[in-house]
Amino acid sequence: MFESLSDRLGGVFDRLTKQGALSADDVKTALREVRTALLEADVSLPVVRSFVKAVEAKATGAAVTKSITPGQQVVKIVHDELIAMLAGDDDAGALKIDNPPAPILMVGLQGSGKTTTTAKLARRLKEREKKRVLMASLDIYRPAAMEQLAILGNQIGVDTLPIVQGESAVQIAKRAKQQATLGGYDVYILDTAGRLHIDQVLMSEVQQVRDVANPRETLLVVDGLTGQVAVEVAQEFEEKVGISGVVLTRMDGDGRGGAALSMRATTGKPIRFVGLGEKMEALETFEAERIAGRILGMGDIVALVEKAQEVFEKEAAERMMKRFQKGLFNMNDLKSQLEQMQKMGGMQGVMSMMPGMGKMAKQAESAGFDDKMIRRQIALIQSMTKEERAKPEMLKASRKERIAKGAGMDVAELNKLLKMQRQMGDTMKKLGKMKGGALKRAMAA
Ligand code: GDP
Repeated sequence: MFESLSDRLGGVFDRLTKQGALSADDVKTALREVRTALLEADVSLPVVRSFVKAVEAKATGAAVTKSITPGQQVVKIVHDELIAMLAGDDDAGALKIDNPPAPILMVGLQGSGKTTTTAKLARRLKEREKKRVLMASLDIYRPAAMEQLAILGNQIGVDTLPIVQGESAVQIAKRAKQQATLGGYDVYILDTAGRLHIDQVLMSEVQQVRDVANPRETLLVVDGLTGQVAVEVAQEFEEKVGISGVVLTRMDGDGRGGAALSMRATTGKPIRFVGLGEKMEALETFEAERIAGRILGMGDIVALVEKAQEVFEKEAAERMMKRFQKGLFNMNDLKSQLEQMQKMGGMQGVMSMMPGMGKMAKQAESAGFDDKMIRRQIALIQSMTKEERAKPEMLKASRKERIAKGAGMDVAELNKLLKMQRQMGDTMKKLGKMKGGALKRAMAA
């Protein structure tokens, strides 16, 4: 079994004293472990190099928050960077299949799971998008492969192009197009022949089929367990045929998914789907988070990141509490409260959590406080200068006019906001004067 990256980093950082920020040395030490972990996960060396460089730049000098260790902090940065690198530009599962009949070309090596994936995809389009799908096997070298597609088609209730002996792949592709047009199909999927290794004959056949079919999507199916080989295959197909995306199969096995990262980085093509088993339902849209967690070798990475986030928020709340205790409550404080409200789903919920705000929450509700209102209020605060936010009481009439105008509202709305800030400030002040943690108790209540 692999040693998880979190364990490795934990070991490294146990020896380091806790500091406020990650030093260059800390980061270097940690990144040695990250590098090894990525290589073990089958990420290719050039990709590892550029990845580590990117993380190094982000991690050096990054603040280490209370209650997570520097090691965990690095893991979080690595995790976020992995996701950034893996993520596609748009919805991975959204295929371009308008203008029926839309051809989809499936390419890849033999045994990669191409035929299975063709059927899985057809089923998905049928079930989820209510498309009429036609499948055709172009594997003229292996009659068994043609049979296999027909059997799968039967099983999932998707039509397959009748098998005609002695046709070339190009002829089958043409017939599929004809049949799809005449039969009123939305999509037709061409399952091309694979070889055990890439060879010129295969490539030129695929090129000819591509030229005849003019596919809207060309999906490369690769075995996620094959690591480096998968990357070479992807590069080759991208160069010779041009692909619009990748389907990684056998991601239900215990490979580490490093191929996904290498492939994305070297071909620039998004991973669209992952195969998670032999069953027809076992095809899912690619999710960067999942693969990132897998590459790092930690099932709990997401939980860890979420916990870190919670800690960030808790620390922000503590800072806020300190200000309140001093009776400080300016527009910046109000702005963070408003933003918090947006996150937590509305005014009422948050206010009822704040001391002395229960009544105001009810008033707010009856005054029709909603998300739109909160957005407007934030816009008003944003059009104030830094000084004005810190000391809103210094605002003169002329400035008020301009601020309101800048945010596209009238002065009455700004005055309402100022009143709200004063009222909240007063409440905070009163609570702040309570002795012996009364504020804390009130907050906790
Ligand atoms: P092809 O030669 O590329 O068409 O490959 P096949 O579709 O015939 O698949 C080869 C084998 O891999 C079959 O036994 C499939 O059931 C299996 N297979 C395909 N996709 C997956 C997957 O995502 N996970 C697992 N565990 N097996 C798969």
